[in-house]
Amino acid sequence: MKSPFSHSASAGFFSEACQLIPGGVTSAARKMTPPIVFREGQGAYLVDVDGNRYLDYHAAFGPVLLGHNHPEVNRRVTGTLMSTPLSGAGVSELEIEVARKICRHVPCAGKVQLCGSGSEAVFHAVRVARAFTGRPKLIKFDGCYHGTYDSVLANAPTGPDTMAAGGSRPGSAGILPETLAHTLVCTYNSLDEVERTLDAHRGQVAAIIVEPIAHNMGCVLPRPGFLEGLRALATSRRALLIFDEVITGFRHHLGGYQALCGVTPDLATFGKAIANGFPLAAIAGRGEIMDHFSTCEGGDTYFAGTYHGHPAALAAALATMEILENQPVHQRIFDLGDRLRRGLAEIHERLGTGATVAGFGSVFVTYFTSAPIENYADALRSDAERFLNYHRAMIERGVFLIPSNLKRGHIGFGHIEQDIDRTLQIAEDVLNRMFRLA
Ligand code: PMP
Repeated sequence: MKSPFSHSASAGFFSEACQLIPGGVTSAARKMTPPIVFREGQGAYLVDVDGNRYLDYHAAFGPVLLGHNHPEVNRRVTGTLMSTPLSGAGVSELEIEVARKICRHVPCAGKVQLCGSGSEAVFHAVRVARAFTGRPKLIKFDGCYHGTYDSVLANAPTGPDTMAAGGSRPGSAGILPETLAHTLVCTYNSLDEVERTLDAHRGQVAAIIVEPIAHNMGCVLPRPGFLEGLRALATSRRALLIFDEVITGFRHHLGGYQALCGVTPDLATFGKAIANGFPLAAIAGRGEIMDHFSTCEGGDTYFAGTYHGHPAALAAALATMEILENQPVHQRIFDLGDRLRRGLAEIHERLGTGATVAGFGSVFVTYFTSAPIENYADALRSDAERFLNYHRAMIERGVFLIPSNLKRGHIGFGHIEQDIDRTLQIAEDVLNRMFRLA
């Protein structure tokens, strides 16, 4: 009989993939050892080509909020596909409905534009911020990730390995140094540094872009006053404040984290959980800024895309948003998040691991350090080897956590209390072995 966690069929597919696709994967973030090829996903569970079943907290890096293949989302998508065209002309009723819902729920959303990925949304938000202010520079934060485009791909985690903190580093070859010369990197949670940077580049900064909770370094919460301070600094220096809510949007609240923290940015970007895994992203913001897009008469900022407003993704977004409006999704996933974090913290306390369990709402992460974590340099104090060993051991026991350093776990509406309790039992066993043998 096959061992329950043999990966031989996955290994076979992966070696075939390597012949055809550089490195065998279509996103650098998906590299993993051993490679696993998934075939099926239902609710909170994934099954790979070897027949191994995993309780999934990876959630495809976060979009899967309601569970894999949510029946209502799928029903709406398939119903739409039977009749609705991708017309490529004018506007669709689905686009209007989705835009209306976003404007109703998201505080900064005077108007909305739709595109296909978080990276694209950020790209357009940055470009329109430059057009609106007539300024070239951008402030971003060390360790925050905002997608693949050149202007934001500095000091951002770009793969399974972590980069060093500080300095100013491109996340890819092929980015022109003169492009990144306009990207100024500050330390997350350091208002002083932002203020000094604004002073040093007076009248030059178009926008400050920030993950309102820094989930690309696990879960680093904004210090009390940090987001308010960014708001005040941006306003006083006539720069725009952009919240990149690609992870926080819809996962933490229908109105994004801005609806919870009470700080309203000028622009915000959304993706991931907006359509429970279907490719949709949005840029929302003040009407006078959004009207700079060239979709508007006289707009000077080019905005176009063949697949913008794809009916399948819009149907998925509408179904997802209606479920979030009508069912206690956030209540339940926040309660499960508390249960998991509390349980994990108790286990670490009991075993004396010195680790810190952090998170917010449905998101959780274990940093293997007891030092407080307020920025990327702090997050890097977490022992990377332990982090990866822990995640890999959990995967081998059937709990799928992202096998990359500092990456977070996501609870969805498909998880139930028994899943959380089983996760805790497995985590205790794994940690017991790790720390007994250490
Ligand atoms: N912004 C944030 C905060 C993200 O986490 C990501 C993706 N991890 C992106 C932008 C880019 O989104 P996408 O991968 O859909 O292009």
